[in-house]
Amino acid sequence: MTSPLPTGKPDICRITDGLIVPPTHLELIAVDHCNIKCRTCNHASPLMPAWFADPDTVHHDFSLLAKHYRPAFIKVLGGEPLMHKNLVSVIQAARRSGISDHFTLVTNGVLLDKAKDDIWKSIDEIELSVYPATPNAGKIIENTIRLAKRHGKLYRIYRYDEFRATFSLQGTANTALVGQIYAACKIANLWGCHAVKDGYFYKCPQSIYIRKLTGKHCESDALPISDSHDFQARLLAFLNSPNPLTTCTHCGGTVGRHVEHVLASQEECHSHIDIPTDDIVDHELLADSLIAMTPADDCKIRVRDKRLPPWQRLAQLLKTH
Ligand code: SF4
Ligand code: SF4
Repeated sequence: MTSPLPTGKPDICRITDGLIVPPTHLELIAVDHCNIKCRTCNHASPLMPAWFADPDTVHHDFSLLAKHYRPAFIKVLGGEPLMHKNLVSVIQAARRSGISDHFTLVTNGVLLDKAKDDIWKSIDEIELSVYPATPNAGKIIENTIRLAKRHGKLYRIYRYDEFRATFSLQGTANTALVGQIYAACKIANLWGCHAVKDGYFYKCPQSIYIRKLTGKHCESDALPISDSHDFQARLLAFLNSPNPLTTCTHCGGTVGRHVEHVLASQEECHSHIDIPTDDIVDHELLADSLIAMTPADDCKIRVRDKRLPPWQRLAQLLKTH
């Protein structure tokens, strides 16, 4: 099913002081579902049933992992993580494992003004994702800045006017195409958006949701987190493997077509991805990416406000909706 990449791919992870150091972060999936339905959500949240991370499971998994793996920071996300009624316990459970000192909450901000002080205490940073169709986007931005400042937390705000198509329910039997999508995938080869969920370590969150969307499970796509003596070696081999996951057959990676952000019904979200993999790929970008990858996410626009006077800052921020 899978095609090996050309040899010579540089390792994405290395061992430093006895620990695997990924390029950036590890994703702590707090919930699967969301309170809005973005048609091209790259975690497929509009199509996921409600699911809540269990703090004891999180503590168990992260404690085992912390013996072998040290990300610079943890992203707490979903779906919409603020939908978890016990989010503080989930974050504290991960923090107690000692896996990282920096926790960033990634949220669409819709529920932020209801977040209790304990949530703010449990994090170091907040990352707000703003979409043109998010109801009350301007107010959410103002709230986020005000609350982050009040609680003394770092904040970053990103605007997403477009996404890149991620999922294909129909998939492809074209192993050469799959090998190329994986070779060009910045998530797998550059950014390293690793994820942990319910006892398993994933190379990318997309592989979690493709398994759920298609019902296809291949053992080699996820690594059970364990206390075995060779776990670190197996994790390193998994992360640096030149071979695509089987889930890559249903994924555009980071070379999907640009798609306008819209909110949609669950049925529309489903029919939008019920197409072959070939049709979700931006083939020009794929060809370019196989020669050289640009590190930036071209869908993610940083909303910067520090150098502008207050009235201009507000005007700039309000342009986001
Ligand atoms: S707000 Fe984020 S998690 Fe929710 S549907 Fe949109 S992209 Fe997905
Ligand atoms: S499933 Fe494959 S192509 Fe998609 S994000 Fe993961 S590694 Fe990349």
